[in-house]
Amino acid sequence: MTGTVNSSIHPSPVPFQQSAMNSMKPSKISPIRNAIKLASCAVSLSAALASPAIAQHAVITIYHHVSDSTPRSTSLTAQELRTQLEYLRDNDFAVWPLDRVIEALKNQEPMPDKVAALTFDDAYESIYTTGWPMLKEFDYPMTLFVSTQPVDNEQSGYLTWPQIREMADQGVIIANHMVYHPHMVDAQPGESEAGRLQRLREELLTAEARIKEQTGQSHKILAYPYGEYDLEILDMIESQGFTALAQNSGAVGYHSDFRALPRYPLAASYADIESASTKLNSLAFEVRQIDPVSPMTDSRRPAVTMQLAGDFNVSQLGCYANGQPMDLEWLDRDAVHFRIQPAEGQEFAMRRFNYICTAPKRGTSRYYWFSKFWTRSTPDNAD
Ligand SMILES: [Zn+2]
Repeated sequence: MTGTVNSSIHPSPVPFQQSAMNSMKPSKISPIRNAIKLASCAVSLSAALASPAIAQHAVITIYHHVSDSTPRSTSLTAQELRTQLEYLRDNDFAVWPLDRVIEALKNQEPMPDKVAALTFDDAYESIYTTGWPMLKEFDYPMTLFVSTQPVDNEQSGYLTWPQIREMADQGVIIANHMVYHPHMVDAQPGESEAGRLQRLREELLTAEARIKEQTGQSHKILAYPYGEYDLEILDMIESQGFTALAQNSGAVGYHSDFRALPRYPLAASYADIESASTKLNSLAFEVRQIDPVSPMTDSRRPAVTMQLAGDFNVSQLGCYANGQPMDLEWLDRDAVHFRIQPAEGQEFAMRRFNYICTAPKRGTSRYYWFSKFWTRSTPDNAD
């Protein structure tokens, strides 16, 4: 532990985590901050007792551009990335390759208490020119999710295959982001449901084969473009033997859904270390029940029931929509089984949104963190 531990003692989380691709500007809110201040008095004791704990959780971050001249919603600056990497280094994080994190969690191996995997989507130029060199400086592994068509087309702003091969040859995991970066939940005009799934399966395997042809790698790990998926896609991914990653926030653990692992977008308003450190230190609830499982909805304020487990005080469980605390109705408080729905007037108009539930782990300043991801099938705008 070093002096920078202060930022984990006094975190300022933004409980509402929007998909990095969404344009809505979330409001920062304060209710959780008071809870954190109450919990933080215990942290010096737990820090003093810090040991190579046997844990069963990790966090995965997602980045796009590392630049101050690209769209801010999917960018963080070089300095913001450096500050995050310094935080990981100075706070005893083990930064593992993504495939190692996935295998350890799937096999339920004992893990260090703080494990992070760093991922970059879309093979943008600044990942090669700025992000990767910085990660090498810290000796941190990374994963690059590549949509193959822009690279094959030598599209401006994207990496070339020789650049991607250079990264692969130096240990970067190159993984699947489909061929055309599609909205996978959308059928094409006139396309049947069977036709959509057949098209997606072919596109998935085509991208995997192209990446293997160019880099020799085939990890069978997919990052959903826009973080979007539905139940049929989850089944298809599983049947093809893939693991898949989404873009909604949350920690990963032994009990995560390996067909849609959450990742923390740490760009834009989530790039600052006060906000990011809370997420980097977060823990995975065990989600014992969730209904509906599907993220697809026609509603602007869908309800969901959940049963969560972990070492937390039920009275400190909070769920948030649009940055606002949600109404929480207990179905069985002892079993931590509950129903949440945004209050009337807190409706979502955009295509993708999240509900976030958090609770501090007893005796620590670390938070369990889970988000329920939604995609509206009838959005007011296409993206
Ligand atoms: Zn993407």
